[in-house]
Amino acid sequence: MTTALDFDAQLLRRYDKPGPRYTSYPSAPQFSTRFTDADFRRQVARSNQEPIPRHLSLYVHVPFCFSPCFYCSCNRIITRDLRRGAPYAERLVHEAEMVAPLFARDRDVVQLHFGGGTPNFLDAPALGGLVDSLGRFFHFSNARTRDFSIELDPRSVRDGDIEAYAAMGFNRASFGVQDFDRAVQLAINREQSIEETLRAIDACRAAGFRSVNVDLIYGLPRQTLAGFLHTLNTIVLARPDRIAVYGYAHMPEKFKAQRQIDERELPDAAERLALLQIAIERLSAAGYCYIGLDHFALPGDDLSVALAAGSLQRNFMGYTTHAESDLIGLGASSISHIGESYSQNYRELPEWESAVDQGRLPIARGLMLDEDDVIRADVIQQLMCRGTIDRARIEARHDIDFDAYFADSMARLLPLAADGLVSFDGSRIVATSRGRLMLRIIAMCFDRYLATQTSSEIRPRHSRAL
Ligand code: SF4
Repeated sequence: MTTALDFDAQLLRRYDKPGPRYTSYPSAPQFSTRFTDADFRRQVARSNQEPIPRHLSLYVHVPFCFSPCFYCSCNRIITRDLRRGAPYAERLVHEAEMVAPLFARDRDVVQLHFGGGTPNFLDAPALGGLVDSLGRFFHFSNARTRDFSIELDPRSVRDGDIEAYAAMGFNRASFGVQDFDRAVQLAINREQSIEETLRAIDACRAAGFRSVNVDLIYGLPRQTLAGFLHTLNTIVLARPDRIAVYGYAHMPEKFKAQRQIDERELPDAAERLALLQIAIERLSAAGYCYIGLDHFALPGDDLSVALAAGSLQRNFMGYTTHAESDLIGLGASSISHIGESYSQNYRELPEWESAVDQGRLPIARGLMLDEDDVIRADVIQQLMCRGTIDRARIEARHDIDFDAYFADSMARLLPLAADGLVSFDGSRIVATSRGRLMLRIIAMCFDRYLATQTSSEIRPRHSRAL
């Protein structure tokens, strides 16, 4: 697979249209309230009965944040009232207590991820108590390869926190940075110093964390090439194992906080691409491998190793080496992926709280994948994780004639092939060095649901591809 990137600004601009991020296929807008907790329980029972039941991943959502970043599109609640943390953590324990007995006890948890919001809104004793409870209800793997990760806001890391997280078993941390340029930070309401960020990264290293990730964003208001380059240079010197460079998706009609952003201060399409280009150039020059979509990693990082070995996977938490596991989401708005089903908890805190308090699984909606969904999910997973689709392999796994089954998709691919984004190599469809930045656009050719939607239906639901 090619890991090189060929940056063709004109072409990228032409293909830069809204579409799903494909952390799942079908994507979340297809989830429906017809999916109930009975469906969830049936899927879990079925997954326990597989000849070799899959390992488990746990995602725990902590929705609280101290202040609103204006670019944010996450499900979060802004509060400075720290007392809100304890009852939320107690309900998470209750939810885990209901969910865990449904799973066979010998299914190891190989991945635990705390996301948000701001997981470190909870203080270290509350987090520690929560991790202990999860460890009692589920069976945590002792393997060296287990990933216990936490998203951290460097602005609210307290003295001793990082050491406490390491003692709880966390071995990966992810820090939001976005841009160190002060003008940008003021425009997005996120003032964060270089010093506090680097101090938190250093503390993770000193505490023995296996991996540190840093998130940056391009396309923010007031962003300049010089300012963003300075941010990139600063981060590269800190040498995090992984760096994600997300494109800001301005969707103020969907995300209220974004209405605080002055649209006149946003970079135009050409400036956005120039920002992306310097990020790619700077990170490549610093020795980072391009993993796919927005992600870069050092050559020795597990993601780079998995990419080279063809074993990379993708799930709701992004790229991972553990996606062959069933994913259990805990907390408001979190998503589970069990067998051939997706389910999502209530997004709104009062609804999630009320379900947990009544002893009900807080499932709001979901989806049972049909046979066609499973085939297309496999195709899209291959594309997202390997940059290729092996037609022979899909035919063998799903007992189909690929070209006949995907006649419409192949027709939709032809203009992309003419533009050099994909090539056909024997039985494989390959995203070229030009096409690797547009994996989402290529994947959209295989998305049955998009094929029946107009662009005015797609736009409000999804961010642009670049
Ligand atoms: S970007 Fe992160 S820290 Fe900022 S409001 Fe959103 S979830 Fe909270």
